[in-house]
Amino acid sequence: MPEPVDALLEGTVVTMDAERRTIRDGAVAVRAGRIAAVGEVRELRERFVPERLLGGPRRFVIPGLIDSHNHLAQALVRENALEDLPNIYRIYIPAEMAMDADDARVSAQVGIAQLLRAGVTTVAETTCTPEHEEAIARTVMETGIRCAMARGTGDRTTELASNYSQIDQTSSYHDDPGALREDLARTEKFLADWTQRGDGRLRPWINNLGVPSCSEERFLETQRLGEKYGTGMMVHVNRDREEIELSVALFGERPLEHLHRIGVLTPDFLAIHAMLTTDREIQLLAEAGSAVAHAPIVCTDIVSAVTKVVTMRAAGVPVGLGCDTVINDIFKVMRHAFVMHTQTTGIPLYDPWSFTTHDAMTMGTIEAARALRWEAEIGSLEVGKAADVVIVDGRNVRLTPSFDPVGTLVRYAVGTDVESVMVGGRLVVDEGRLLTIDEQALLPEAERLGVRLGEVLGPRRYRQLPGMLKTPVEERTR
Ligand SMILES: [Zn+2]
Repeated sequence: MPEPVDALLEGTVVTMDAERRTIRDGAVAVRAGRIAAVGEVRELRERFVPERLLGGPRRFVIPGLIDSHNHLAQALVRENALEDLPNIYRIYIPAEMAMDADDARVSAQVGIAQLLRAGVTTVAETTCTPEHEEAIARTVMETGIRCAMARGTGDRTTELASNYSQIDQTSSYHDDPGALREDLARTEKFLADWTQRGDGRLRPWINNLGVPSCSEERFLETQRLGEKYGTGMMVHVNRDREEIELSVALFGERPLEHLHRIGVLTPDFLAIHAMLTTDREIQLLAEAGSAVAHAPIVCTDIVSAVTKVVTMRAAGVPVGLGCDTVINDIFKVMRHAFVMHTQTTGIPLYDPWSFTTHDAMTMGTIEAARALRWEAEIGSLEVGKAADVVIVDGRNVRLTPSFDPVGTLVRYAVGTDVESVMVGGRLVVDEGRLLTIDEQALLPEAERLGVRLGEVLGPRRYRQLPGMLKTPVEERTR
């Protein structure tokens, strides 16, 4: 007797399991939020009676893609930061400070809609403003995406003398114990609440802004909180030259050397970006079992440096790919990573294997899951794992014919090829329709917020954006 299942998803199945099996004319059976079977379509149709049949000929069935770094409250800042560098303190932070909790909700809905539509089922969110975490976490729960969500700020103000005068000034820092206590209490409340309320789909993490902005005490206290609640910390590290100059001036050591010395590099540590990382620092990450979130398009956007991804992975450091708000589409990020790392490591030595399309796909799925310490649940299509599954529509001349499905997807697919998306067995995109967000109602809200952020950020830019909007479309056409 065939058993009932909730859904059968059919197509070329790209499992990303340990053997990297690809099953042509394959299928994935889903029951009670989990993967019940992976195999040949003929066999699974005999074994199961599905309530819902999805996919079919010329579709690809792949694991839900994983974005290992994003800021959902920055989804409407992206163009305001473009080609106007440096932009963290001048553009990004003022933008987030100008937003209230409802603005954060609008921005998070825009970001999540972009991600889900592009087949991203898990996002690592980094909330660094003091008051937006509740609005963002609630939006995560409502929209159905899975989220490793870090919150937290910093407690240290720094001064770099070389920016002024080194004759009568020295580089200095001062800690703010009041700010530390207040933010620790808020972070602990967030961890305690969302360990319960997250329903297994939202896992709370800790955010520490960066080495120059956080005291040693803050790093150690948050590490203790992480141990207490069974989670880890995310830290932006080695992103900008200014950050490293500060670290060297203040502590006489580079950022990752500093974190190693104070003892916070562990398997629960996720280094965000790590662009300007030395081979010695890569060794420290590898020895500690720490991971890296790599956003290759941001490397290009801020012209900082190409992260040494090939060296990191060879040393055993898991590296996940990230969108970091600038392009919320992991297909484009995978392709960018493939081109970037092949150009930097493959071309100089004529080595076609230095970084392949399969490496890119691994970093967008199972390796990103490892970086987020979530590989027991997500990142590949295997029996017993959470049913985070994406169907890509290959019924077009870009994706047909396909002889190496992973190569085809990394080289030629785009987010709009995604047909259906399931997170933990719940269908959130159904044959092109996003079920959990009213996109038409969201558009005017997004535009109003975009115009308002433009008013805040326009005067802060060195060069004006040519198409800066003064009023939303609805008001212009009224
Ligand atoms: Zn970031």
